[in-house]
Amino acid sequence: MELSIVVPVYNEEENIPALYDQLTEVLDPLGLKYEILCADDGSTDRSFMLLKALTEKDPRVKVIRFRRNFGQTAAFSAGFDYARGDVVITIDADLQNDPTGIPLLLAKIDEGYDVVSGWRRDRQDPFLSRKLPSKVANWLISRATGVAVHDRGCSLRAHRLEIVKEMRLYGELHRFIPDIAAWLGASMAEVPVQHRPRQFGTSKYGIGRTFRVVLDLITVHFLQNYSTRPIHVFGKYGLLLSGLGFVLGLWLTIEKVFLGQSIGQRPALTLSVLFMMMGMQLVSIGLLGEMIVRSYYEGQDKSIYAVREIVDFAEDTPSDGTTAATAVAYPMALRPASTNMNGMPDA
Ligand code: UDP
Ligand code: MG
Repeated sequence: MELSIVVPVYNEEENIPALYDQLTEVLDPLGLKYEILCADDGSTDRSFMLLKALTEKDPRVKVIRFRRNFGQTAAFSAGFDYARGDVVITIDADLQNDPTGIPLLLAKIDEGYDVVSGWRRDRQDPFLSRKLPSKVANWLISRATGVAVHDRGCSLRAHRLEIVKEMRLYGELHRFIPDIAAWLGASMAEVPVQHRPRQFGTSKYGIGRTFRVVLDLITVHFLQNYSTRPIHVFGKYGLLLSGLGFVLGLWLTIEKVFLGQSIGQRPALTLSVLFMMMGMQLVSIGLLGEMIVRSYYEGQDKSIYAVREIVDFAEDTPSDGTTAATAVAYPMALRPASTNMNGMPDA
């Protein structure tokens, strides 16, 4: 399998026939072996019936039907889990992404990039409620994550299979796929793609998601920078606060003992105690975080790194693609010492 097209579908009955026609029209001339993976995200209209009919007509079409509406992130995730193509392409089902962008994305993949994002330069959505908030959010996220992508909301994207298999998406994090991919070490490119107004059906999102993006950004930023060392962020502020509280308390003690002043009524006393306690709590949260991190990685046998390839390893190196997925598959004894999160020799 060379290509997997992943399509999240939620109540898109009017769009499905045209989507299939347009996709095959673009994909067939490429001469690649492909599959179209539709994740039916609990549609309540005829979407599933139509998709099922397509699978009977064309064996390249597959449907993953959810029990209920789990959201677009889950739909992408399911597509990634079942994808078998060397390159995985995501595209919306509502025909807003023009499939003619697919060959452009693939050309960039051929140049060697791991993830190629579409950029709806001429986006056909309302300005005030959609385009403006999206521009601001993208700018903000780029500043925070250091990943210079213009359009995270564009579903039309191509990814190498290894990258999507590595990716774990939660909540509504599909909008951060470029940032998560870059964090995994993927090389990134961007190409302008055509965008069309929605003709049938309705958009599933409103302005509310802009605010959720800001919260998600905090999560992503934290995980990117501190996921394996939470004590560094909590501990830093914890030490700072308790240090401040201590100095304040020391000063008050000197005033009391050496200058004979009464300090019982001083707001600084309350502040000093507050700072010291808050500081200690922050340090404790950091320590709890460190324990959680260890059970997260060790309990699930996860790796704290992602391997691109291994050159000149022992003769029993697996010969299939060498990604972090294969690295985790090594027996314990073969693992480099860095997987041991305790900084102690492996037992
Ligand atoms: N979608 C989905 N589950 C949801 C919401 C949306 O699978 O809970 C799909 C939807 O069918 C479409 C794509 O995700 O194919 C993008 O949704 P939409 O067009 O509503 O988003 P917009 O283009 O307005 O940002
Ligand atoms: Mg849309």
